[in-house]
Amino acid sequence: MDLSLSPEDRAWQARARAFAEAELFPQEVELELSGRLPRETKDRLRRAVVAHGLNGINHAREVGGQGCTQLQQTVIGEELGKATGALWAVVWHPAVALRHGSAAQIRDYLVPSCAGERRACVAVTEPEAGSDARRVRTRADRRGDRWVINGEKWFVTTGDEADYIIVHANAEGDPARPTLFLVDKATPGVRVRREPKFTHTYVFGHPEFVFEDVEVGDDKVLGGVGRGLELTKDWFVEARLQIAANCLGAAIRGFEAAEDWATRRVQFDRPIRDFQAVEFMLADMAVEIMAAKSTVYRVAAEIDRGLDRKTAHAWASVVKLQASEMAGRVLDKAVQIFGGRGYMRENPVERLNRDVRVDRIWEGTSEIQRVIIGGQIRKRGTAVFTGWEQGGR
Ligand SMILES: Cc1cc2nc3c(=O)[nH]c(=O)nc-3n(C[C@H](O)[C@H](O)[C@H](O)COP(=O)(O)OP(=O)(O)OC[C@H]3O[C@@H](n4cnc5c(N)ncnc54)[C@H](O)[C@@H]3O)c2cc1C
Repeated sequence: MDLSLSPEDRAWQARARAFAEAELFPQEVELELSGRLPRETKDRLRRAVVAHGLNGINHAREVGGQGCTQLQQTVIGEELGKATGALWAVVWHPAVALRHGSAAQIRDYLVPSCAGERRACVAVTEPEAGSDARRVRTRADRRGDRWVINGEKWFVTTGDEADYIIVHANAEGDPARPTLFLVDKATPGVRVRREPKFTHTYVFGHPEFVFEDVEVGDDKVLGGVGRGLELTKDWFVEARLQIAANCLGAAIRGFEAAEDWATRRVQFDRPIRDFQAVEFMLADMAVEIMAAKSTVYRVAAEIDRGLDRKTAHAWASVVKLQASEMAGRVLDKAVQIFGGRGYMRENPVERLNRDVRVDRIWEGTSEIQRVIIGGQIRKRGTAVFTGWEQGGR
């Protein structure tokens, strides 16, 4: 079994690390204190993403992406995840569902999105539909040869920055025909109702959108009528792996900072790491990170080796659940080791501790990941998770 990273994987890791250190870390404090980055900074960061060759890492070279493997995306996500304020989000990952677009949609949406000229946001969640996407009320009704969309979407990440929205709506209000629509934000009838504040500082916003008689043609249906849930599932696999990679990075940065502080901080005439209570926290952090990293890298590598779609979905839940819960525990300990300084917003550990809380909520809560894993155990047996190779051997 070869567990080593290839020279190409290492090159991606080094590139992402250099980008995070040169471009993201210097923005952290300003972002935290002012809550937003100025337009010029965001534009400069967009150009820097392209200059570092990090645009469209999750798409093929033919459409202007970087054609990275899942493992390469993971090592990149880990490095970027070390940045606070979710600055990793400045590196765009055009929605995987766009691959299922028509030739015209690929030309008009996917290619410019990989280049950073366009940006999407994804709108699934609604006031009555969170974990249970079947409760979506947003509907698209046929009027002549057009679709007319009406509804409301919440928590639309990057909705302030995006110029188009991938809207999950039920065709003719039929929950059995969930469908994705490409809706340009400038289309009449699309409006932002409000942009609430959240626990974390996030480089972009999470506005709430209202759609009132928004008309689009058949050319804006993505992947076919009725395929909405199926396409969203593929998106979940990718997003859950990305969250897991970001969580690894956040935990590792917090661990390194706490270890450094434990060595330098002297109380009762000795460095605090000499107190076993503190050293045991560091030991637990190391164990947790090592375990989660092993799983995240393994699942990414298995996907690159052709893991079937069902198992990829199940294992993406495992890594998302494990890594997000791990990051919460590790960063809580990091705050503890810093004492009062760990509670100051100028300390990256304080910010990371706040940032990772949402990772147990979005893209499926921890409970929903357990529902998925439990359901797979029931249907396919324990070996899906306990066996080593695909099929549980
Ligand atoms: C900052 C942020 C950004 C987001 N970005 C986006 C975005 O870009 N696009 C988008 O569409 N959505 C986005 N979301 C929405 C996110 O995916 C939902 O918040 C999440 O799926 C949970 O839905 P909910 O908030 O309605 O909680 P609910 O579904 O109401 O859940 C409430 C509680 O009940 C539990 N629960 C629900 N069902 C079950 C069950 N079957 N078994 C056990 N427990 C259960 C949950 O785990 C949770 O603890 C974002 C959310 C946040 C906070």
